[in-house]
Amino acid sequence: SLVHAFERRDLLIEHLHALNDAYRGLFERHLVALAHEMKLPMAEVFEVATFYHHFEVLPNDATQAALTVRVCDGLSCEMGGAKQLLAKLPALLGAEVRVIRAPCVGRCEQAPVAVVHQNAVPHATPDKVKAAVQAGHTQQALPDYVDMAAYLADGGYALAASLSKGTAQTEDVLQAMEASGLRGLGGAGFPAGRKWRIVREQTAPRVMAVNIDEGEPGTFKDRTYLERDPHRFLEGMLVAAQVVGIEAIYIYLRDEYHGCRALLQHELAALQANPPCPLPHIELRRGAGAYVCGEESAMIESIEGKRGEPRMRPPYIAQVGLFGKPTLEHNFETLYWVRDIVQKGSQWFTSFGANGRVGLRSFSVSGRVKQPGVKLAPAGITVQALIDEYCGGMLEGHTLYAYLPGGASGGILPARLNQIPLDFDTLQAHGCFIGSAAVVVLSQHDTARDAALNAMAFFAHESCGQCTPCRVGTVKAVQLMQAPTWDNATLEDLNEVMVDASICGLGQAAPNPVRCVQTYFPHEVA
Ligand code: SF4
Repeated sequence: SLVHAFERRDLLIEHLHALNDAYRGLFERHLVALAHEMKLPMAEVFEVATFYHHFEVLPNDATQAALTVRVCDGLSCEMGGAKQLLAKLPALLGAEVRVIRAPCVGRCEQAPVAVVHQNAVPHATPDKVKAAVQAGHTQQALPDYVDMAAYLADGGYALAASLSKGTAQTEDVLQAMEASGLRGLGGAGFPAGRKWRIVREQTAPRVMAVNIDEGEPGTFKDRTYLERDPHRFLEGMLVAAQVVGIEAIYIYLRDEYHGCRALLQHELAALQANPPCPLPHIELRRGAGAYVCGEESAMIESIEGKRGEPRMRPPYIAQVGLFGKPTLEHNFETLYWVRDIVQKGSQWFTSFGANGRVGLRSFSVSGRVKQPGVKLAPAGITVQALIDEYCGGMLEGHTLYAYLPGGASGGILPARLNQIPLDFDTLQAHGCFIGSAAVVVLSQHDTARDAALNAMAFFAHESCGQCTPCRVGTVKAVQLMQAPTWDNATLEDLNEVMVDASICGLGQAAPNPVRCVQTYFPHEVA
């Protein structure tokens, strides 16, 4: 089976992970050997290995530190004290431990977070991190969750089974999905039912790609639900596969979610041992630290074992996607709601909503609130209601100053605009968008310019480099944004070219936080 695996070009990243895990880095001699075994040019292996942040290519004579500690420097962790951690940890942990900064690790409600090898330390302090290192706590503990037996006992997989037996009809399920108005919850918001119908109309064979890359800073809803109730998602996935007629499913999980990976491996094995319906081929794939792979076509490139560079469209992936086949791509959470919508009826979902909006949203709330976390609330709720009714209010000594309604790329709004319904369309008039519903709350102790700089530095780090406006523009913007007084004319030149000439959403959305500071917080940069 190893020989067979080496023949599969698409498994290159999995092989790189195996080497990286075993040797704490990718030594050149191992890459040469891998290229030989896979019958690939060395340049191809090298260009993939150097693209992903979680791989480090090392010369053959390099010596590696015994352990790596990553300190998240995403916005919520920065507000929670990441800079102080980064300043103190190297001396405290000694030369044997390598301390590096890492982009958002998807645990913003636990800020600040440090990751000791693969073990996330929530609400990290220097002493807590040191204790984890000394105790050898380097693997993520599995959370308590609803396992296969408990899920079955609660009526789970009845829907998936009834579809395969013909006691439920795929057309009825499809109509329920369309009537619910459920939109893709990864950020783009494309209606899920319509997507199913479009892919179903394509010529077989069709495949599905599940996006659990959840890299937007501020977002942690997919991890939270996956840690609690993985089979609700797996059943939604199997229902979608039956309705659309899918022959193979590839689940792409971000590498930072080590506990989720172990959990999913375990529960997928349980599902395959006791399948409620005929299962398509299912593979769990591991990301390697590249935010851009959350973009659907970049994720497909990555599953194919390549650099995660977004594709030009058309063709759209619904027609020509993974391995050249029509592809149904879904965010984790979109599939998570399928069982409830079909069994409870589309009216159940549409009965929720606020301020004229319809449905439910899972808001990842972090920052200066008393109870950060994933808040399931009506679509269209305002940030003020979200803070007051779902988060226990602001932290003691903090008042609302600003908020990010949609993570790093969704823009920044001032406190006076605290009554805007948070939903897909309503924020656009204010230069913002909801994306994956990651709400980061800032107080009078924070500044919008710091938040915007944090976001732009993230984009510069994560640009895939394929197009010049994004690759160069983000770096240049970071430089300009550090001046006490902003050169707004030059920044706006950059904004325009990034929005107009970038291939994908990363470069197109990167100017959002800058423009919001210029519009709503000019006093901070004057
Ligand atoms: Fe890559 Fe940025 Fe261009 Fe997207 S916009 S393709 S991330 S360089």
